[in-house]
Amino acid sequence: MPSGSDIRLPWHLRLPGPLERDFTDFFRDSVARVAPWAALNVVVLLSLALALEFSMSPEVAASTWRPRLLCLMLAVATALVARHGEWRRWLHGLSMALALAVALTGDWMALTVDHPLAFSLFLQTPLAILLMSVLLRVPFYWAVAGSVVMIGALAASLYQGGRTGEDLAMVLLLLSLSSASMSLFGQYIYERLLRQHFLSENVLFQHRDELHSANRVLESQATVDGLTGCLNRRGMESRLDELLHGFSRGGGKERVSVLLFDIDFFKQYNDTYGHLAGDECLKAVASIPRSLTQGDKDFVARYGGEEFMVVLANTSLKDALVVAERMRTRIEQLGLPHSGSRVSQVVTISVGVTCAGEHAADANTLIKCADEALYQAKGAGRNQVAYMNDQGRVLAL
Ligand code: GH3
Ligand code: MG
Ligand code: MG
Repeated sequence: MPSGSDIRLPWHLRLPGPLERDFTDFFRDSVARVAPWAALNVVVLLSLALALEFSMSPEVAASTWRPRLLCLMLAVATALVARHGEWRRWLHGLSMALALAVALTGDWMALTVDHPLAFSLFLQTPLAILLMSVLLRVPFYWAVAGSVVMIGALAASLYQGGRTGEDLAMVLLLLSLSSASMSLFGQYIYERLLRQHFLSENVLFQHRDELHSANRVLESQATVDGLTGCLNRRGMESRLDELLHGFSRGGGKERVSVLLFDIDFFKQYNDTYGHLAGDECLKAVASIPRSLTQGDKDFVARYGGEEFMVVLANTSLKDALVVAERMRTRIEQLGLPHSGSRVSQVVTISVGVTCAGEHAADANTLIKCADEALYQAKGAGRNQVAYMNDQGRVLAL
């Protein structure tokens, strides 16, 4: 489980490795969502600015409409770029350009327009950058860089222009600095929360996935036989129930066939060759039915010590008997020596087959019928196949 330290974000906000890349994409997508609204906001602000300038004097408006138009075009371009996934990597640069353009129109205004109110437009510089940074979600460090550049430019124009008194220049600069630092602080907090949220979600998702795969491993360990790799009895019961349940809903239950087989004289095999050799023999025998089942609903299970069950979905009794006989001969052809057997020189099996129908509709009855057929095959001399037909009669193949 995640420890607390896994989800702590450092002060500089950088996320570990690939998460930083994912976060950048996530951040760009979030920009894409707000870009049209930010563009609309810029349009409204620029229109208000033009209206204000016109009310100051029509000449002011006549000299400022060009930079305003440039900003407008940039705003529309930003909104358009946001619509195309492959262009989004340009978004942060473009939104910063938009912020700088809006800011510069303020500088330009204040430097060229000879009007007392024009000085207040100096404040447009840092405010515009921060407004754009927040609206367009420019990453925090970009916003800091933009603010430093623009406040530097503001200071240079204030002190070099020589048209502003020292005191007024200082007041304007301090006002800009304080508004910039407050907004940047707000933005730092905003981005910190966003990144923290992203990191926590990721760590939790990662641990949830690990938990899921651990569960899957545990589940398969609980249903798979360790020696042969077949399903164990528990796995077999749940798969067979699932299969019969699915077929009863589809009305095709009668096409599920069950083959139960048991190795002949296996006790003698163990006595002759030892228990370890017996285990190897079980593995070799189990590999044959596994190679004969192809459908994804078919399965092989280790039913008991040296008894196995093969379940074939969508298979009639006739077809199941063909598979059973093929399985019996293939195991015989493995040629595993068995000197203790009384029916052959090699390892053989006896098989009982049945197919779901009126005589057997549920899992328990099906297994019981297959077991009866197996008993018959054993009694009739072993190394053979017997089956129960749909009238409930047991016959030799
Ligand atoms: P039959 O032909 O009537 O089936 O005779 P059999 O000797 O095979 O009969 P039985 O079912 O009595 O014997 C099964 C033997 O299988 C007994 C047991 O020692 C052995 N066995 C069960 N599980 C394992 C196993 O995991 N490994 C090994 N090596 N032997 C096992
Ligand atoms: Mg046996
Ligand atoms: Mg047995």
